[in-house]
Amino acid sequence: MKGLTISGARKGFGATQVLQGIDLEIAKGEFIVFVGPSGCGKSTLLRTLAGLETLDGGHIAIEGQDVTDLPPAERGIAMVFQSYALYPHMTVRQNMAFGMRMAKAGKAEIEARVARASAMLHLDALLDRLPKQLSGGQRQRVAIGRAITRDPKLFLFDEPLSNLDAALRVATRIEIARLKASMPGTTMVYVTHDQVEAMTLADRIVVLQAGRIEQVGTPLELYRNPANLFVAQFIGSPA
Ligand code: ADP
Ligand code: MG
Repeated sequence: MKGLTISGARKGFGATQVLQGIDLEIAKGEFIVFVGPSGCGKSTLLRTLAGLETLDGGHIAIEGQDVTDLPPAERGIAMVFQSYALYPHMTVRQNMAFGMRMAKAGKAEIEARVARASAMLHLDALLDRLPKQLSGGQRQRVAIGRAITRDPKLFLFDEPLSNLDAALRVATRIEIARLKASMPGTTMVYVTHDQVEAMTLADRIVVLQAGRIEQVGTPLELYRNPANLFVAQFIGSPA
């Protein structure tokens, strides 16, 4: 079954063409990592998938439904950003429940979903704390937990580890790998400029350069058979 279909996606800002025609078919449950240098259009692509930017041309379908013209709240997506953007005056529990309260979910369902997300991410002991009482890595786990409670069809991550120090980055990357294993039906699109994250998390890696796809393949395929020098250098293949 299809998880996400991107067809002919184009986006520009003024005279700058940022996405120059992106075509990609992603299976339901697949973990796709977009890699590429700063400015190549990774965040713009994620934002168009989320509905935070409109496409100039092309289409996006999630699990077979065309969502190109749907607002973010109707797309069945959740997104985790580089900076965690928790509400500072709300506890962890309230932060995780907030989106569902807005969506008018029932109390029992909210409690069940918060419990599930907090068990998945080992947040049980932190539920009554405020964000300022958490480390950076814990805050990012709460942001991921909040996204899980939405039970998304499509889970989007924009460089979620890049604000963490090296040790926390490793620990949180392992949490994300476990999350991937425990949500096998959820399609995940993850953006990074870090090769290690790409090689360890991805089912398939998509290499972007200047708004175009250079190559798509499993980590091993890209490592063994890079299509060109740009991919080879990015993936770290032997010359
Ligand atoms: P990446 O996430 O790969 O670093 P971005 O998608 O953030 O790249 O940006 C790609 C290009 O689009 C950059 O040149 C950036 O300056 C430009 N850009 C992104 N968002 C906007 C915007 N809202 N207005 C104008 N230019 C933008
Ligand atoms: Mg970016």
